[in-house]
Parts: sequence; C-alpha cells; structure tokens
Amino acid sequence: MPSVYLHPDLHCHSYYSDGVLSPTILAHQARAQGVDLWALTDHDTLAGQEEARASTKALGLAWVSGVEVSVGFLGQTIHIVGLGFDVRHPGLQQLLATNRASRVPRAQAMAAGLAAQGIPNAYTGALRYAQEPAQLSRTHFARYLVETGRCRSVSEVFRHYLVQGKPGYAPHQWVSLSACVEQIRAAGGVAVLAHPARYKLPVLQAQLLFDTFAEQGGQAIEVVTSAHTPAQVQQYAAVARERGWAASCGSDFHSPDESRCSIGAMAPLPGRLQPVWELLGGRIH
Ligand code: AMP
Ligand code: MN
Ligand code: MN
Ligand code: MN
Repeated sequence: MPSVYLHPDLHCHSYYSDGVLSPTILAHQARAQGVDLWALTDHDTLAGQEEARASTKALGLAWVSGVEVSVGFLGQTIHIVGLGFDVRHPGLQQLLATNRASRVPRAQAMAAGLAAQGIPNAYTGALRYAQEPAQLSRTHFARYLVETGRCRSVSEVFRHYLVQGKPGYAPHQWVSLSACVEQIRAAGGVAVLAHPARYKLPVLQAQLLFDTFAEQGGQAIEVVTSAHTPAQVQQYAAVARERGWAASCGSDFHSPDESRCSIGAMAPLPGRLQPVWELLGGRIH
C-alpha cells in the first residue's frame, strides 16, 4: 500500500452502531467520493470491521481498522477513536464489551424518563433502529421520536429530550480514558482524540484532558471533522503542532439525512501537520 494518501476518511458509522448504512454501502460511497484510505469507526463495537475490510479490498481501497470509544473524564463523555489495532485483541474486545453492556440499563432509564413525559414504548421503538440492545444509543431514540412526530429532526430531539437536564437523558458510566488508550495501544493501535471542539470544557479542564491523553499514550487528534468550523480546524491544528500530535481527519458520517457532510467530503488537513496515517504504516491493508 502507498504511504501517501490524499483523501482519507478515518471516522464514520455504519448500522452496527448509530449509522444507517451497511459497511459495504459505505465503502462504495467512499470510493465514489474519491476516498483513498478508509476506516469504519462504529461506537464501541467491531462488528462491522470484517465487512468493511472485505468490501474495501474488493474495491481496491486502502483500509485500516477503526472504532470510536466513549470514555468518562471529569464527569464528561469524551470520544476516542482507535485506528490500526488488531481486531482480535482480547483486552480491547473486553473494554468494548463493557461499554456495550452498560448501554442496556442506560437505554431502559432513558425510556423510563420519556415514559414519565407521556412518551411510551421508547425502548422498543428505539430498538427497531438498532441491531441489538447492546448498541442502543441516543441516536436510535431520536429517530424513534422523529418517527412518532414528537420532533421534526434528530437534532431537535437531542435539544429537547436527550441532553443533560432533559427527560430522556440518563447518566452513563463509560470506561475510563486511561483504560481505553491503554487497550488501543496494547492492541497495536493509535489513539486519536475525536472532535475536540465538541467538548464544552473550561480551559483548565481541556488542558488536563490533553495532558492526561498524552500521558496515557494518545498520539493524535482530529483536526478536520464535520463538527469543526474552519476556525476550529486552525485552532486544533495549532494544538497538534504544540503537543507534537499527529492529525486525523474524518467525516463522522452517520446518515444521508442527518449528517453535516457526506463520507469523504471534508477539507484537506492544514499544512505543517503530521498526518496520522504516517503512524499507521504496516497496519494499512
Ligand atoms: P450515545 O453514545 O448514546 O451517548 O450517543 C451519542 C451519539 O449521538 C453521537 O455519536 C452522535 O452520533 C449523536 N449526537 C450527539 N449529540 C447530538 C446532537 N446534538 N444532534 C444530533 N446527534 C447527536
Ligand atoms: Mn454517533
Ligand atoms: Mn463522536
Ligand atoms: Mn463518531
């Protein structure tokens, strides 16, 4: 495989987590958009990895393993993308299973909160949008509430029902940041801090997040993602340069109806950055 990639997309979701398309359809869309290196990064699951690998291979695209892990840090949820790890690594598999197992009681608590607001059957309704209870996410609840006519869009459901202080929100205990980075590294992968501008952390807490991530062995940060404005792209490019981190880019594509940009439809990385794929070397297939 070449080591120079001009158009990678290293963050997107299939219907094995909270996306709506299969890994195979995503791979076809990636190729149609000119993507030359692709990673499927479903939340807390590797269920789509083999299909993603096989379909990219059939299309002649370069592929690297991927996952997006929810972790707890200072009472907040932070997302860590893992790239280029061994998908059979038992420690990483166990870590992801722990997160998946805790999605079930959390979804039940969310449904109870919604029922108390006069929205019955949300657990069953959300489950129709997911492959299994262990993958239930807020996105599946949001799709169900749009279906019932409660809200016009998924983002409206989040605002009114699914964020802290709203009736369908239930607190969550994710695995720790340090355990996550440790297992990604143990599995031979690179840990990437996902969409940093999404975390509404005060400056000192953001510094602590960056310090802790680096101390645990985190090596890269998403600079280009659909969640970032052009100014935020520059801001986190500067963070990557200061910290000596590699830079990643990904669409965070979930669905043609809900996502801000299509798979592969992002701006290129700014200059004077080390692209994360330079760290992935032999792990790209
Ligand atoms: P969960 O892992 O169950 O907490 O769900 C988090 C997922 O919800 C994220 O991965 C996004 O796909 C989606 N999400 C989070 N915030 C919003 C929002 N404000 N609008 C739409 N989708 C969101
Ligand atoms: Mn998601
Ligand atoms: Mn995320
Ligand atoms: Mn994501």
